[in-house]
Amino acid sequence: MSEEHFKNLISHAKEYGFVFPSSEIYDGLAAVYDYGQNGVELKKNIREYWWKSMVQLHENIVGIDASIFMAPKVWKASGHIDGFSDPMIDNKDSKKRYRADVLVEDYQEKYRVKNQKEVDKARKRFGDDFDETQFVATNPNIARNNAKIEEIDVKLKDGLENDLDKVKALIEELGIACPVSGSKNWTDVRQFNLMYSTQMSATDGESQIYLRPETAQGIFVNYLNVQKTGRMKLPFGIAQTGKAFRNEIVARQFIMRMKEFEQMEMQFFVKPGTEMEWYAYWKEQRLKWHTNLGTNPAKYRYHDHVKMAHYANAAVDIEYDFPFGFKEVEGIHSRTDFDLKQHEEHTGKKLQYFDNESNESYVPYVVETSIGLDRMFLVLMSNALEEEDLGEGKTRTLLRLPAALAPYQCAILPLMKKDGLPEMARKIMKDLSLDFNCFYEEKDAIGKRYRRQDAIGTPICITIDHDSLEDESVTIRYRDSMEQKRVKVSELESIITQEVSMKELLKGLA
Ligand code: ATP
Repeated sequence: MSEEHFKNLISHAKEYGFVFPSSEIYDGLAAVYDYGQNGVELKKNIREYWWKSMVQLHENIVGIDASIFMAPKVWKASGHIDGFSDPMIDNKDSKKRYRADVLVEDYQEKYRVKNQKEVDKARKRFGDDFDETQFVATNPNIARNNAKIEEIDVKLKDGLENDLDKVKALIEELGIACPVSGSKNWTDVRQFNLMYSTQMSATDGESQIYLRPETAQGIFVNYLNVQKTGRMKLPFGIAQTGKAFRNEIVARQFIMRMKEFEQMEMQFFVKPGTEMEWYAYWKEQRLKWHTNLGTNPAKYRYHDHVKMAHYANAAVDIEYDFPFGFKEVEGIHSRTDFDLKQHEEHTGKKLQYFDNESNESYVPYVVETSIGLDRMFLVLMSNALEEEDLGEGKTRTLLRLPAALAPYQCAILPLMKKDGLPEMARKIMKDLSLDFNCFYEEKDAIGKRYRRQDAIGTPICITIDHDSLEDESVTIRYRDSMEQKRVKVSELESIITQEVSMKELLKGLA
């Protein structure tokens, strides 16, 4: 069912102009995608929701837009040249390459699925009296599964941090087989660096330069510029959205893991010693940002990191229940003063903050929130797409996107292509276009046109008919309920605003 839902989603995304394979007429390029006319709007709206929630709703957060190219030494200092790699393992029979840690994590997931089955079974048995928390805490099967997950966590962490041979041994011990060949004939586990490099010409010859693998470093190297020119006081944040590039060896699952993708990152600079407070704050805030979109909270969970990145002293992922299982959408990391200190060391320049209150200078600590825009796009698409049963054997394809993020906020549909209806519709379009992205269509039967808007997630359709010419009123039809009502043209702007504006969405966070 899930797998089928995912396949439908990929074809729906293509058929309705959301996502196309890159350079498709040349048979595409693995793990690289283009956003179409509807996808680009949805993506822009997600970015805007993020930006406004960060920059507009926090007086102490400002934005920047740093370049993709950076001085190559940045990546030495940040640890990416030496340490930004994934542990890979090849199956000798299928010749397929996998991330060793992901193979183990997928194996652990089986125990989590078993636990969920126990809970579902018990809920059925006990009905309304069911106390899930107590059941999870006392059920012996769940305890055994959790112990197994924990034991694997410990071994995996040890292997990843100390000795990759231990990761291979763990894969063998668990009897993990290649999903393609079914064999357990594995190579050793080796590290592969994920950064792309290219050449930059200079007067003294060519030099190697990298495509940034994360946007965060553009923020760190501008920390002092922003702090000084913006006269920022701790705690304060710098936000940025932009492209990042990673040579993902195992690219899969559509736009989940791409070689070129977009990140939305915010680095929050704090006084050392207060970072855990802010870490807890941002952990909660970020989950709220997700659930504020109306997604079922049960589809989200936190996942504490087993293996901490080289810069972090605490890290958690926000995971979403995709059609292929729970996977990371966003990371919240307490990065300590690692990055700024590294840049101090490699440049010889001080990147400190003078604290007026305590009369001392120090390097701030950083709590980071980092979300993939493309993954968030996939969250929304997989949550929104449904085949709704309308009874009597009828169904409709519906994209139940949050109204404020939909590609079009409304569609303007003259019932017929004559009798002055298109002229009136065009006038309404002209007025509403100043506030909203409006879709205009006069071809085909109205029912068909409604269905097409349902499939791209347009929350409101406005139909202009012959009565409209007489009484200056139109029919509005809601995507989710299919309810229709008659309203005055003069009321349209306020009705649509109430229903679809970003402001209404942001109120849930303010
Ligand atoms: P993963 O473990 O899935 O590779 P990560 O832990 O390496 O992700 P981070 O470095 O924390 O990811 O990056 C922050 C966010 O950027 C992730 O939560 C994810 O949403 C997004 N992201 C990372 N890599 C990719 C990718 N290859 N394609 C799309 N989005 C990505």
